[in-house]
Amino acid sequence: MNVNAALYFIEQFFDVQKSYRACFLFAVLAWFLQVMALGTYDWMRAGSSSMGLWTYCNYTATDFKCCQTLTNFLGKQHKIPRMPTWLSAALVFEILGLVSSMIFVVSCIVLICISDPRLRKKAKVFNYIFSLATVIFVTIGVLVYWREYSSETWSSEARLSSSYGISATSGIIHLICFLLLFVSSDNSVHSLDEGRRWNGPVSAPGTKEFWEEILEHPTTPMHWTQFEGGYNVKKYLTLRDQCQTVEVTDQKELSAIQKLVNGTWESRFVGHGNIKVTGVERIENVDLWNNYIHERAKLIRSFLNNGRPYEKLENHSNRGSVFTARYMDTPLTGALYPELNEVYLFHGTKAVFVDNIMKKGLDPRRSADGTKMGRANYCAESSTKSDQYADYKQNSGLKMILVRMLLGWIFVAKDAQQFRMPPCSTCITDSCKNRNHKHYDSIVADLPDFREFIVYDADKCYPEYIITYKRC
Ligand SMILES: [Zn+2]
Repeated sequence: MNVNAALYFIEQFFDVQKSYRACFLFAVLAWFLQVMALGTYDWMRAGSSSMGLWTYCNYTATDFKCCQTLTNFLGKQHKIPRMPTWLSAALVFEILGLVSSMIFVVSCIVLICISDPRLRKKAKVFNYIFSLATVIFVTIGVLVYWREYSSETWSSEARLSSSYGISATSGIIHLICFLLLFVSSDNSVHSLDEGRRWNGPVSAPGTKEFWEEILEHPTTPMHWTQFEGGYNVKKYLTLRDQCQTVEVTDQKELSAIQKLVNGTWESRFVGHGNIKVTGVERIENVDLWNNYIHERAKLIRSFLNNGRPYEKLENHSNRGSVFTARYMDTPLTGALYPELNEVYLFHGTKAVFVDNIMKKGLDPRRSADGTKMGRANYCAESSTKSDQYADYKQNSGLKMILVRMLLGWIFVAKDAQQFRMPPCSTCITDSCKNRNHKHYDSIVADLPDFREFIVYDADKCYPEYIITYKRC
């Protein structure tokens, strides 16, 4: 057996919900009981075993003696040339039950190994079918046997093992498996057995209590489906697979993103007319999200301590508010906390890097040398700017990322300057040595052609959507 496949199965086994785990264990037990009940050919031949529905024994003066085979027993002892029809029928149903039980065990393994929820739903259908089929086959087999056995004259002197009781037990366990599958919810891959779902703050927005509620509930976003929204993100951190992408099919979510892309498009800057969104995927990455909300909590605490919200960009830049904010619709609007200067921005990249960003996030250490403001994460407020970073040889299947960014306390820079972190607010340098001075959280480079939005900490960005588009 392939060791890696076995290890993968074991890891998955501990990841899935309890009902699946129980179902698999029960399935194996039920299958084993069915094998025992039926008995193997070897057991029949050994003649010493009382196991198996088909091992017939007869009573001699001192002892029960088990026969070598059923045919022998019926033929030699009772001159019955063939098995009675009812016995053949019961045998057929018991064998069908065994086969179906075996397929059920395999489909339980498949169910545990699949992590895509849509595929899992389909795989579950097989589990329903084979658990129920086993119940039906075994029940018919046992009932036929139980009803007819006592009416046969030869059977009065033969002793049958208790294995048809074992077979009935196997049938009952299969029924339990079916019910377990039936009650297991498949709304998310990793549905949590413990903890309560949080539905958002109940205090009035903007109050101290409102922010404290948010700090107390570090949860996954409400609209997440792979790691069900509203649960403590830490509970998902123990999972092996912490990153999933989900195709966005919700029309509101989809059209809000399309509006953001098209609204911020400035064709005067580029050679081609426009771009058209052809697909959007949401990135659900537990690890990155956990880091992001940790940064967000720091900003919330800092502004609670200062007692006033972060200053708006429009107070320091002639170009006004963040461009994307002007084309924002629900549900995107509701997902942000503008008090923290939390914004949606675009990050342009070649399609080949998307997978890496999705799994590991945007990383300042990977940014190129010679960038305008030093090594950092750069994002743009217009889709035009991001499109410039996509592959120029291609026209379709291009990708850009819609990133959530925490700007917090913004330093507006009027010219390019190399920084390693946002500057100190007093000395306006990143090499400030005064421990009492505070640093800005982000930089907006207000340069002649475009504004650039820059953070130096990877965790102040969360890559949230992969937008696939074509140029037209
Ligand atoms: Zn300073």
